[in-house]
Amino acid sequence: MIRIAIFFIAAGAYAAAPTADIKVDQAGYLPGAPKVALVVSQTLAKDFTVRRAGSDSVVFRGKLPRPVQDADSGDLVQTADFTKLVKPGKYYLEVPGAGRSWDFTISPDVYARVFYLAMRSYYGQRCGTAVDLGPEFPGYRHAACHLEGAYHPSSGKTGPHASAKGWHDAGDYGRYVVNSGITTGTLLWTWELYGERLRRVKLDIPESGNGTPDILNEIRWNLDWMLSMQDGDGGVWHKQTSERFCDFILPEKDTLVSYVIGTGQEPYKSSCATGDFAAVMAIAARAYRPFDEAYSQKCLRAARQAWTWLERYPDVPFRNPKGVSTGDYGDGNCRDEHLWAAAELWRATGGEDYERYFLEHFGEFRNTIRAAGPPSWADVAPLAMWTYALGHGKNAEAVAGIKQDSLRAAGEIVQRSARNPYRVSLASSDYIWGSNGVAANYGMQLLVAHALQPVPPSPSPAERGSRASGALARIVVGRTESRPPGCRDE
Ligand SMILES: [Zn+2]
Repeated sequence: MIRIAIFFIAAGAYAAAPTADIKVDQAGYLPGAPKVALVVSQTLAKDFTVRRAGSDSVVFRGKLPRPVQDADSGDLVQTADFTKLVKPGKYYLEVPGAGRSWDFTISPDVYARVFYLAMRSYYGQRCGTAVDLGPEFPGYRHAACHLEGAYHPSSGKTGPHASAKGWHDAGDYGRYVVNSGITTGTLLWTWELYGERLRRVKLDIPESGNGTPDILNEIRWNLDWMLSMQDGDGGVWHKQTSERFCDFILPEKDTLVSYVIGTGQEPYKSSCATGDFAAVMAIAARAYRPFDEAYSQKCLRAARQAWTWLERYPDVPFRNPKGVSTGDYGDGNCRDEHLWAAAELWRATGGEDYERYFLEHFGEFRNTIRAAGPPSWADVAPLAMWTYALGHGKNAEAVAGIKQDSLRAAGEIVQRSARNPYRVSLASSDYIWGSNGVAANYGMQLLVAHALQPVPPSPSPAERGSRASGALARIVVGRTESRPPGCRDE
């Protein structure tokens, strides 16, 4: 008892538990970037201090403005701006009457760690293999799971089916082609847009060191599963899951049969899944070409076959067949997936047929590049238009229009974020199931606008507004100012 008392005295007044009422950026802050903390307090303090963690010495004093009410939470929010503090280190905020914040870091490489963890999360979701995140996350491990699969009667086939690889879905152990579409597609885009920065980032996965960049090693785990979901006629089944969700158990304890599930009637495969598949495989063909030509060709063949099927069956929706209650991911309109497939296949091959399809149909979707609602697994038309513009499509008028729409929408997102007391990009109607994904996709939307028209790297008022659009945006923009710690030396 005596020793415990001495410890608390020695630790001083700031040993008090941090309060969630002072919200700092858990990822940290770049030295040259805008820096704010958001304070929710009934005491309406007038000032704040930033102290160095460990020594408790004051390194910055600032004034708190009048509070603003946040409509979504009802909170009264004050903004603590400490942008002028640029010295790297570990700090915390102190606000009279509210307490102290969690520690945060100012450093040139704060987003390297976030990127590493975000990518490691995919490794943690791997199906078909034992997973162990190691001593960093003790206990996050499981034995190999779902090693056997079978064709469900709704697939049009019978017998066993290879059940290999893929990532478990969020919250269940199913694997779904349609949400794999936007996930895998945008990860591949990350490589295409920022490959030079990501090439040497080591993710500590079993494939590390095999000569292929680790981000592509991880993505391939899901591509391989997606390839196993294509039928001989080119069509792609919607999902591989059990008939119902298993209990809350470890994946290797789930012994329900992992079925390839189809629509239950001819042609059994669905148009949305096949369109997403074609688009993703076309991007993969581009991305893996320098590292594995044979794999690149395999992906391209699969994409072309899927396209051929899609031309024959453009409008086959998916609904859970009788007796199946796992995720539906129903989508009544597969025209946007069709458009994305056309655009990515054009970008991979230069094929005139694909470009013609794109140019004949993209006008129907121009209004989907907007500030109110980013792309989602069910709405991939913006991806189609962006890949056409990023790939320098031949039709200059189309490219200019897409670029104009994208910049206008991005500007509105930035302004909305700047007006929001918590600096979040979400509108009130965006707080839906998985709304962190909505925020991340707004971040992606801003990144694409940035790629279409780069802005100077110095912090600006617009960037202050956009900063809350999510760490993802900043990670992938790659404004880290030094090599991430996960990099290997060449
Ligand atoms: Zn599994």
